[in-house]
Amino acid sequence: MLLKNEGYSRSVINAQLNELIKQNKALGGFEICDVCFWQYDEVAQNMPNRIIGPNKVSLNTAKRNYKLYGAIEKHLMNMVRPPYEDEI
Ligand SMILES: [Zn+2]
Repeated sequence: MLLKNEGYSRSVINAQLNELIKQNKALGGFEICDVCFWQYDEVAQNMPNRIIGPNKVSLNTAKRNYKLYGAIEKHLMNMVRPPYEDEI
């Protein structure tokens, strides 16, 4: 998908992203967390220090980044929503 110049505003990117996530969920392809953007991956789950699978950071790095930025990578911090109370 190509982002148009004016498409770099946060709301447009969010809309495109939500659409992508919706499509992926509909396909059952993969599951990305709305809160931290981590994509569930069983292999990474078992190797938390390795960068492996669909995520660009290791699970432990993701957890550290989440504490710092509220997302698994700093540039994704605008792509996520705050957690609901029962998710903390
Ligand atoms: Zn999450």
